[in-house]
Amino acid sequence: MFLYYREPYATTLKATVVATKREKGVNSIQLDRTIFYPEGGGQPGDRGFIDQVKVNDTQLNANGEILHQIEGESNFVAGQEVTLTLDWDHRYDFMQQHSAQHLLSGTLYTLFKIGTVSVHLGQAEISIELDTDELSEEQIVATEEAVNKVIRQNVPISAQTVKQEEIPPLNLRRSVKVEGDVRLITIEGHDLIACGGLHVKESSELGYIYYLRSERIRGHLRTFWIAGKRAIDAIRRNNAIVDRAGTLLSAPPQEIVEGIANLQKEVTQKQYEGQQHALKVATLLFDKLLEEGETLNGVPLVIFDAGAWEEPYLKQLPELFLKRTALALAYVAERPDGKVGWLLCLKGVEGEAKLFTNIREEALPLIEGKGGGRPPMWQGIGDKREGKEEFLEKVETLIREHLSG
Ligand SMILES: [Zn+2]
Repeated sequence: MFLYYREPYATTLKATVVATKREKGVNSIQLDRTIFYPEGGGQPGDRGFIDQVKVNDTQLNANGEILHQIEGESNFVAGQEVTLTLDWDHRYDFMQQHSAQHLLSGTLYTLFKIGTVSVHLGQAEISIELDTDELSEEQIVATEEAVNKVIRQNVPISAQTVKQEEIPPLNLRRSVKVEGDVRLITIEGHDLIACGGLHVKESSELGYIYYLRSERIRGHLRTFWIAGKRAIDAIRRNNAIVDRAGTLLSAPPQEIVEGIANLQKEVTQKQYEGQQHALKVATLLFDKLLEEGETLNGVPLVIFDAGAWEEPYLKQLPELFLKRTALALAYVAERPDGKVGWLLCLKGVEGEAKLFTNIREEALPLIEGKGGGRPPMWQGIGDKREGKEEFLEKVETLIREHLSG
């Protein structure tokens, strides 16, 4: 006996174990009667307890049996008397969301002839896909006003099961898709539709409904809403966020967005200034290296160990190298991960690809280096930091041989 339809507000029940099952590592209990609603009609399965054992989900199987999926091993035996305790907060939350969704869909249809294509009752919000690709600000406000008015009027919400031929032909928001008996949910004066889910019995139980946001999908509009205790909790949470942000910015709520935008602008400006500064420092360092280096066959030769030069300066270097018409340069730098970074620039050097091949074969193994690039620049990482001096020496020798040969 499935009692959740007859007594949707019952939170405990005595029942008898009919069978225990195990499927895909999950133990399930089947009972002679239950108040636990199995997932269906867009509503999740109930949670709670059978005696002291946690029920994580409730599912209906292909044989029409309700399986209470429990946590861990089952010590239940057929014939055993047990007490069911429903996780009422979870169930009631979804009853609120489900009724709110019907009211929203009904209202959107009544006010604007906008139909509902599909719905999802999520853990945090209701999503309703509409057969339109646009909902104006005015329509959203009008919908919010209308549904909250119905909540204040406290109209009855009821369920009745009728035979197919008894279905009121014209008043249904959407045609019935099932055969046989049909369960109809009425929000008095506002909506009538076939549904297998569980609902609150009065609209005042929905507390408050408001719009969150929309997104376009397949030419439709997917709208997001929030209702019930969730809506109140979210308002409380959001107020705390606004309050905290306002305190951090020393600004009243209406100036928070502008305050954040200004901060973002400042950060961008500071980043730019930082980059300009790094470029200036890098230019000075590079000019000094050029000055100290020698020129072979018209090509300045620069070989150096950048040691622990800071990342922002190193980042600016390649741009400086590429500005030169001729340059034979190699450097190594320490990395925070303990490895060694290397870079090679052979600009305006004839036969640079062949020179790089030599360097790759003879010098890179000294630091167990990997990497690549294309003329005139190559770079990478070496695992063997201790080999960096030898590496630079080898590179210098190979470049010298190449430039003088
Ligand atoms: Zn429904």
